[in-house]
Amino acid sequence: MHEAGITRTIIDTAVEAVEEEGGTRINQIDVTVGELTDFVDDALQFAFEAMKADTIASDAVLVISRLPARSRCVMPECTTEFEHGRFDIECPKCGNPFNELVQGRELRIDRIDFD
Ligand SMILES: [Zn+2]
Repeated sequence: MHEAGITRTIIDTAVEAVEEEGGTRINQIDVTVGELTDFVDDALQFAFEAMKADTIASDAVLVISRLPARSRCVMPECTTEFEHGRFDIECPKCGNPFNELVQGRELRIDRIDFD
């Protein structure tokens, strides 16, 4: 379960950032997860619940936002930007299957609420 590794990174990063700011308690961590990552929300939440104990995030809530996949058509006369599913990446305008991914693989911390 590789959600465990990324969740550990999220908690460690948040704890470090908040302690640097002089915080002692994390209330909420907002993260954005791209649709093309393999991370499953339930698995992230499960790992978060298990790992937050004994840290300053022990009472924190993890809020996950999903970001749809977006690509840009590489045909110079087209360059349409469009949202798509994991396996459905043809340009909807010209049918070209070769596109440049512009969004969908990210995993980032957007906001940390702390005291
Ligand atoms: Zn196109």
